[in-house]
Amino acid sequence: MSEDLLDLFKGREALLEGHFLLSSGLHSARYLQCALVLQDPGLATRLGAELAIELSSLLEAERPTAVVAPALGGVLMAHEVARALGCRGLFTERQDGAMTLRRGFSLAQDEPVVVVEDVITTGKSTREVLDAVRARGGRVLAVGSLVDRSGGQLALGVPHRSLLTLEVPTWAAAGCPLCAQGSQPIKPGSRPPA
Ligand SMILES: [Zn+2]
Repeated sequence: MSEDLLDLFKGREALLEGHFLLSSGLHSARYLQCALVLQDPGLATRLGAELAIELSSLLEAERPTAVVAPALGGVLMAHEVARALGCRGLFTERQDGAMTLRRGFSLAQDEPVVVVEDVITTGKSTREVLDAVRARGGRVLAVGSLVDRSGGQLALGVPHRSLLTLEVPTWAAAGCPLCAQGSQPIKPGSRPPA
């Protein structure tokens, strides 16, 4: 799947090359714009189903009854993975800086949940979603993402599967070779730098 998915990103011009400021605050020469892939509803449904299969193989017998993702980037993934699993698709949002479930979304005590993302780079926002789910009584079974940009180096404390694992170098601003060459990073994501 990984090679096919990378080709798919390239084919949809969703693998951007340049100088980017990521939502994590790090700089990178590559950026995956998942929205350009997920704008195709049929493709989004197919990718959600593939991620659901990956997660199901991890979970064995236990079935999640909700899928939770961070808005905005994860909303479509939560929706499509939930469609495939036959359960609810919820999303978290920031309220006064803290990731939380709004809009009347609720979880039952000890409810089995999977958390999904479009792209995971540092895992920071994913960990915030895990905390938000647990704070509302949910029990996180696993994490799934379309893309893992960490090269598989994430430590989330729960099992994790991605459809595409990429090792993409990232740098703090002070150590960024592109900044050293005098260029300015552009911000393709949604969260302002901390
Ligand atoms: Zn830079």
